[in-house]
Amino acid sequence: MQRVYLDHNATTPLHPAVLARMTEVLRDEFGNPSSVHHFGQRAKALLDEARASVAALLGADPTEVVFTGGGTESDNFAIRGAAEAMEAAGRRHLIASSIEHEAVLNTLKALARRGWRTTLLPVDQRGVVSAEALRAAITDDTALVSIMCANNEVGTIQPVAQLAEIAHERGALFHTDAVQAAGKVPVDVRTLGADLVALSAHKMNGPKGVGALWIRRGVRLVPCVTGGRHERGRRAGTENVAGIVGCGVAAAAAREKMAADAARVGALRDRLEREILRTVPGTAVNGGDSPRVPNTTNISFERIEAESLLIALDLEGIAVSTGSACSSGTLEPSHVLRAMGFPAHRTQNSIRFSLGMGNTDADVDRVLSVLPGLVEKLRSLSRAPVRG
Ligand code: PLP
Repeated sequence: MQRVYLDHNATTPLHPAVLARMTEVLRDEFGNPSSVHHFGQRAKALLDEARASVAALLGADPTEVVFTGGGTESDNFAIRGAAEAMEAAGRRHLIASSIEHEAVLNTLKALARRGWRTTLLPVDQRGVVSAEALRAAITDDTALVSIMCANNEVGTIQPVAQLAEIAHERGALFHTDAVQAAGKVPVDVRTLGADLVALSAHKMNGPKGVGALWIRRGVRLVPCVTGGRHERGRRAGTENVAGIVGCGVAAAAAREKMAADAARVGALRDRLEREILRTVPGTAVNGGDSPRVPNTTNISFERIEAESLLIALDLEGIAVSTGSACSSGTLEPSHVLRAMGFPAHRTQNSIRFSLGMGNTDADVDRVLSVLPGLVEKLRSLSRAPVRG
């Protein structure tokens, strides 16, 4: 069966150069980067090289990059580290958007249970946070504002530079989760004006379980992981050398091919989206009127339960995803689509197609050849009328 992988926002295959280099490092470079002898110094040199590569992707200085155990840890470190550091100044208020990833939302919830005040900003139906919403919510005791660069479900890009400026006017730090933006669109820390930027290797053809947090020089965070003096005292634990090397190679590859990939993958996404809208009645794009990352489209299918369509597509060898989580038999509506103000049925009938490195025109053709028939079949099984 021809398998078509259209779930790159969940994770991506390894870039061949990443696999090749990681294999060499796993085999030949077992030294501990903290050791002073030859083996340790070789490993340390590998970390330095990877750090320089991630810094180059972000337009940053290598000393500002801390390697972590992935995007979730980077978000945790940014939010918890800033919250604790700013507490002494009497700042106990945290702001995020209502469409953040759980890595941010649940971290805010955890801090709320420990006494921090939290505010989730609304988004409009285009899936974008407004400057007005932030201005209305921010106070002089706000410690941190956390707004993602690009949303993982609908791909919408947020006006981060503008929002960071507002945060700074009130003396708050600004964190952006750039996990879904890094490698897809330029993420330049100076242009963004943020203080903290999180990324994850496995969303850009690197390995899982490795990420980075960029921390603007001069910004003090309380470490989440305490122990030795690794990562200049910011994240303890013997470094995942091969993973970090993989992250560095992925960052270098992303930087080199970003413009070409954006054009190629963007053209595939645009054709897929256009043809689905044309050939399948009762479809609409969620967040389609906003600037989006080029690889993502989130499409609502009237009178369809997203999980059923996902499974039907999987049986045809096509991997997609829903924004909603199916837990204990109940279908959780997507918090992102709900925050965008869509009615309940639309938060449960939407499918995310996220393209990437290996996708070709043949993949798009394959989806377009089976999708209209699957939708028609699923609709014929349910008797509910098409909702306008
Ligand atoms: N932030 C966003 C926007 C994401 O999409 C993801 C992964 O889905 C994460 C954070 C978490 O990253 P990781 O899987 O590396 O922990």
